[in-house]
Amino acid sequence: MWTPDQKYDVVVAGAGPSGLAAAIAAARSGARTLLVEQSARPGGVSVSGGCPAFMGCAMGGRQLISGIGEELVRRLGRRGAAMLKRSFRRDFADGPILEDIVSSEDEIALESNRMLAEAGVDLLAYCTIYGCARTDRRITRVDAFCAGENLQFSAPMFVDCTGDALLAHLSGLTLVSAGSDERMTKTVLIRVCNLQPFTVAEMKERFQQIRSSFPFPAQDALMLHPSGLHGDFLLNITLIDGDSFAPGDLTRMDRELREQIPIILDWLRKHIPEFRECSLVATAPRIGLRNGRQLVGRECIRCCDLDEGTPVDDPIAVGTRSYGGHGTTNFTQAWAKMNNGCRGIPYGALLSPECDNYVVGGRAISIEPRAITAIRLMAQCFATGQAAGTIAALAALQGAFPQYPDLKRALLAQHLLLQ
Ligand SMILES: Cc1cc2nc3c(=O)[nH]c(=O)nc-3n(C[C@H](O)[C@H](O)[C@H](O)COP(=O)(O)OP(=O)(O)OC[C@H]3O[C@@H](n4cnc5c(N)ncnc54)[C@H](O)[C@@H]3O)c2cc1C
Repeated sequence: MWTPDQKYDVVVAGAGPSGLAAAIAAARSGARTLLVEQSARPGGVSVSGGCPAFMGCAMGGRQLISGIGEELVRRLGRRGAAMLKRSFRRDFADGPILEDIVSSEDEIALESNRMLAEAGVDLLAYCTIYGCARTDRRITRVDAFCAGENLQFSAPMFVDCTGDALLAHLSGLTLVSAGSDERMTKTVLIRVCNLQPFTVAEMKERFQQIRSSFPFPAQDALMLHPSGLHGDFLLNITLIDGDSFAPGDLTRMDRELREQIPIILDWLRKHIPEFRECSLVATAPRIGLRNGRQLVGRECIRCCDLDEGTPVDDPIAVGTRSYGGHGTTNFTQAWAKMNNGCRGIPYGALLSPECDNYVVGGRAISIEPRAITAIRLMAQCFATGQAAGTIAALAALQGAFPQYPDLKRALLAQHLLLQ
């Protein structure tokens, strides 16, 4: 448990998929590790964003989820607390994972807390980071607010897994953010029950035929995940555009998104027979933000690299090569590309050229904003988080960032897929 006089080697900010994996990897590598999270529970979007669906787990008959992300889903699978999204099978825990996985917020948070405790990570939840001091090339302090107290954390290494590179922003590191054509929609996810049986692919097609009367025309794709309970689905169907970094705009968007929900449910009941008797079960506690800020790193993943599949000399995890989707005027932007296959994520995308004790994981790694789909799904965020935590631990214990061959050895020993 955190106490004011504890000393840490690594402080991880944010306990979403990337921060969870970063903290566990750092602690398992021998670093005394603190994980700071503003919400009550770990899980990030998968728990506090109401989206307990791990995508990016497989592609073209190949398993992509690996390392700590794989460990989490297999542990959930062993307890019957998760299922394969397409085949609805719960007996996947000991076989290859060739589909995405759905679970529940409560199960993910519970299992994540257990894994953190087993690894010896100190989790400080209900703790909001608001400041960060940097002298020359080192972060010297992170300021946070918890239970009515101002707290300060210092450590040799910091890992930024806040989703929007908050530590980098607060310490003045160079960042890039999506332009208006690159921004993705913001969504409040909703869960509905009492749906009559249907197949997801056929329902998506049917939506296409009737969507001209859908009350929010920018939503031209029906996105839904089965929850695992009979007739119970998670709908990814509200959408809005706005600036999540403008104070006040989050509140406006949240209110407007929640006003969309009854309108959408009425439309679904009226136009789709299987939804006629549907009821609202829950709405996400917070808006889901897909794309915000990315670090300008030592190496940036560019759309042209994904198009060409340029080889990566120093991969620390595997991303995909497709990009685009969730556009603000229609789902698929004119510049979106559905490239087949995977590409390694370079070591330099997790490091800043301006700071020697900062590592980033998750959706804020160094990538052109348009390309973010290649690294933003949860399976990929677990992986970059795990790499970031390992880099930070090795750097804290050795006094310098690890050379790539040493890092590669450490990541492979943790069963992380690199190519
Ligand atoms: C609406 C929506 C639907 C999605 N659907 C899917 C899906 O079905 N499947 C899929 O695989 N991916 C999905 N994604 C993408 C995926 O969820 C995210 O890209 C992924 O969760 C990013 O992981 P992360 O660890 O980088 O950040 P996050 O999951 O955002 O976690 C960041 C964590 O940092 C914490 N934090 C932030 N600021 C502070 C602060 N100041 N102090 C302390 N803590 C802080 C947050 O509370 C949070 O827990 C979706 C995203 C959205 C927004």
